Amino acid sequence: MDGCLNLNKTEFEKQRLIVLDRLTRIRVVKSKNIKKAFLNVPREEFLPEKLRIRAYEDTPLPIGWGQTISAIHMVLIMLEELKLSKGLTVLEIGTGSGYHAALCAEVIKSDSKGCVYTIERIKKLAVFALRNIVKTGYRKWVRVFHRDGSKGLPEKAPFDRILVTAASPSIPKPLIEQLNDPGVMVIPVGGLHLWQELIVVEKINGEIKQVNRGGVAFVPLIGEYGFKYNNGIIDN
Ligand code: SAH
Repeated sequence: MDGCLNLNKTEFEKQRLIVLDRLTRIRVVKSKNIKKAFLNVPREEFLPEKLRIRAYEDTPLPIGWGQTISAIHMVLIMLEELKLSKGLTVLEIGTGSGYHAALCAEVIKSDSKGCVYTIERIKKLAVFALRNIVKTGYRKWVRVFHRDGSKGLPEKAPFDRILVTAASPSIPKPLIEQLNDPGVMVIPVGGLHLWQELIVVEKINGEIKQVNRGGVAFVPLIGEYGFKYNNGIIDN
């Protein structure tokens, strides 16, 4: 380990405060519970060793297997749109590093209720995420699954909130079905490498409402209800 390259805990905490201050000033983050969660969850613990030093750069960072941990502002925008509160049941599709799942857990955790189910299609990333979740103390509230998350998790449905952190050509039908009523889902929808839009889906009294929150860039959701993977080529 290179001691010069590793900041100590207090320095990471200072950097976390600086980023939060900037994102609060530009109104990316507004809610007290989200701000508190951001300060409590150490992003550096969800990164490969060599990238820890860059933990508070507000940019996507590689976590291996061609995947990325989303930029800090994007993670917080999605959390704000989800309207999380204590005791809710959350489904995340695209565990990646486990960071977003840990932040959700930090907001919804309560003594008796609240759970985050998170699904990852790349087995080694699911293992990496689980390790990160255990070492940061969120194991009690987070369950990691290795499978195609575009089909959701029917055995644990319904979910009060669904967070999709990979882009899909359309909103997967099983996810709409597995969303509780009332419920909120946040999902990037659009092309494979081009334009995608962040869609907020609300289910209320059996009705589905959709709001477009603007352009975003995510890695693809690969699966039965996402982009298809055929002999090494991804298409829809
Ligand atoms: N939320 C993550 C970042 C996610 S990147 C974090 O906080 O670090 C998107 C992730 O979605 C990748 O890890 C990718 O492997 C995963 N993914 C893509 N298609 C998927 C599918 N059908 N089911 C589950 N995970 C999927």
